[in-house]
Amino acid sequence: MRFTDLVCRTEKGIYCPPGDFYIDPVRPVARALVTHGHSDHARAGHEAVLATPETLAIMAARYGEDFAATRQEAVLGEVLEINGVSVTFHPAGHVLGSAQIAVEKAGTRIVASGDYKRRADPTCTPFEPVPCDVFITEATFALPVFRHPDDRAEIRKLVASVGQFPDRTHLVGAYALGKAQRVIALLREAGYEETIYIHGALQRLCDLYEEEGIRLGPLAPATVEKGGRKDFAGAIVLGPPSAFADRWARRFADPVAAFASGWMRIRQRARQRGVELPLIISDHCDWDELTRTIGEIRPAEVWVTHGREEALVRWCELNGIAARPLHLAGYEEEPD
Ligand SMILES: [Zn+2]
Repeated sequence: MRFTDLVCRTEKGIYCPPGDFYIDPVRPVARALVTHGHSDHARAGHEAVLATPETLAIMAARYGEDFAATRQEAVLGEVLEINGVSVTFHPAGHVLGSAQIAVEKAGTRIVASGDYKRRADPTCTPFEPVPCDVFITEATFALPVFRHPDDRAEIRKLVASVGQFPDRTHLVGAYALGKAQRVIALLREAGYEETIYIHGALQRLCDLYEEEGIRLGPLAPATVEKGGRKDFAGAIVLGPPSAFADRWARRFADPVAAFASGWMRIRQRARQRGVELPLIISDHCDWDELTRTIGEIRPAEVWVTHGREEALVRWCELNGIAARPLHLAGYEEEPD
């Protein structure tokens, strides 16, 4: 069986012709397998959705209970048959519930990894390398310049800054799904047990993480109406990056603007956003982790979905692995 007979690229996304299903389709389809809850991968409006229970819960929280006509839970490691194709979900270590999807027929196995990372993350199950013929990988940070530092050291910078500026509010921008909860969990791991204030846009997902057993500690809404500006002096306030452009952010006392993102590696981006305290914390692999992962799995072919495809394709070729970009449309550069 040729690899492209099992999985191919279409306008709607990655498609398995014999199984007649899509993985993370960007348009409504009859049957979608979804790797994780980020909005460019998990969209509303499919007829049937197969995903991990956590991803299904995230989709319901974001889109409402009627996000799909039918839904089916995928248990990690359990083999499912879809039209004669074996499908297995494996942890991806990206956000709560994130999974790689392995598709197998007639001895050929292709793994669509969605988004993934290799570092320990207190909020999700670690990535598991799955032997395969074709490894489909993202390339968000696929340039040698991207080397993420230790996330715990980045969190210590935040805690140190709070100690240094007890009269200022630390406003931390963090993507609403995954990054925000990871920053909170890392703060708790670092021994920070004060109340952390959160923007309303984070409430439901933080509740969901807690329901799934991820301890986030004392949280409270960051609403200024109920008190004075001084209430947040010395506090950490988390909000989605989009909230920092609106009036909400201007209410806090002499804020220290922080932003938790892999993009903070690029100083110019931090400056453009007016970020005083950049925290390089990413839910994606850096260059070393991408190449290490491909080196560990050693697939016959690597297909690259979105990001900086060229450098990764070149690296594979130099290391004797056939590789090509998929040029998939519809996947945004995640705020990460
Ligand atoms: Zn993602």
